[in-house]
Amino acid sequence: MDRIDYRSLTREELEDWARDLGLPAFRGRQLFSWVWRPGFQDFSQMTDFPKTLRKMVAEEGMLTELQVLAEQHSVDGTIKFAWGLPDGLVVESVVISARGHKTLCISSQVGCAMGCRFCNTARMGFHRHLVPSEIAGQVLGMLRHIGTGERPTNIVFMGMGEPLANYANVLKSIHILTDDLGLNFSLRRITVSTCGLVPEILRLGRDTDVGLAISLQAPDDKTRSQIMPINLHYPLPRLIEACHSYRLSRRRRITFEYVLLAGINDSLEQAYLLTRLLRGIPSKINLIPYNEGSNPLFKCPPHEHILLFQQVLRDANYSATIRKTRGQDISAACGQLYAELKGRD
Ligand code: SF4
Repeated sequence: MDRIDYRSLTREELEDWARDLGLPAFRGRQLFSWVWRPGFQDFSQMTDFPKTLRKMVAEEGMLTELQVLAEQHSVDGTIKFAWGLPDGLVVESVVISARGHKTLCISSQVGCAMGCRFCNTARMGFHRHLVPSEIAGQVLGMLRHIGTGERPTNIVFMGMGEPLANYANVLKSIHILTDDLGLNFSLRRITVSTCGLVPEILRLGRDTDVGLAISLQAPDDKTRSQIMPINLHYPLPRLIEACHSYRLSRRRRITFEYVLLAGINDSLEQAYLLTRLLRGIPSKINLIPYNEGSNPLFKCPPHEHILLFQQVLRDANYSATIRKTRGQDISAACGQLYAELKGRD
């Protein structure tokens, strides 16, 4: 029989586990709190458990530990990690330092099945979903590695994979990340980014209060379907309707990510179309100059042109920022470090 992966269980599930063994529920709570402490190494540290109980905990279950396979530091403070998973597969996460805050960008799948044409991860294909211990485990691993300095405040599900295609595991990891006995992040500081899985967007709005980011990349169905196959299943009218219905707490906005691809989605006419598309949605638009990296198919527009595109959005009273490319001296684009590691095999 498979041993229980303690870090894949929420506090409530560990309380149930304790009850099933005839123990008081607080033992499950204590175990939950222990396994998410950055300094926790093994069950012998649980000195508030009797020795016999510690032995039983060690025999009944296990801890998933991610191994650091590579760690790259950029001059701008970005740190990129490649993690080895128990089955030998690899995922990536990034620590981004900007404006005095640290943000952790984490992966939800190994590879991705969504096939967005401009994306490095898409070129890996889909391998498997990550389980909660591997998703929240990336955060634990980064907290351990970046040490005792300023604690990161934000978490974004913008690494490898489509989080909403791995809905149950992502939701469970959000519970672990925000539990005050777990990793104790604020729900308001977590953002889930999706390429547009409409039913799951609606579900996420009902199940939790995290921030939503839409990987948009085009204001019209023709362009979007060319670069994002998901648009053939959930075209823009359905996606935009879901954004209108997404339950947003006070003063929150949906982030729309727009990777600028020269000659494809960067015309000023498309900028005007975008202003019309998002009308009525509390939104901020994040313009992302395409990171040319290893994909020769797409080019980044010139900076002056990006400024004109931004101005159209600003003139229509949208908050539109141009994302500063972080970690340019390391492989910071999603899927790049993985590709390098693979190339070394
Ligand atoms: S952009 Fe996101 S959803 Fe699209 S293929 Fe890449 S990882 Fe998947």
